Amino acid sequence: MTKHSHCADCAFFEDHVVEAKADDAGLCRFNPPVTQPSADQRGLWPVVTANDWCGHFASGIAAE
Ligand code: SF4
Repeated sequence: MTKHSHCADCAFFEDHVVEAKADDAGLCRFNPPVTQPSADQRGLWPVVTANDWCGHFASGIAAE
């Protein structure tokens, strides 16, 4: 079985639960917020859990 680095250790994981419902959830900041069908609604950041993972995992963000 492949070992993955999880969202909890990713530089793009924001560990707060303002928009997230589950205790171990946070926001993924890799991509911009997802747009909503109505112009008067704000976009939503993707919600992930600490044990989720994806191919964009980063242990840090390089300074420009
Ligand atoms: S979904 Fe991918 S980029 Fe986003 S926090 Fe998780 S590992 Fe990082």
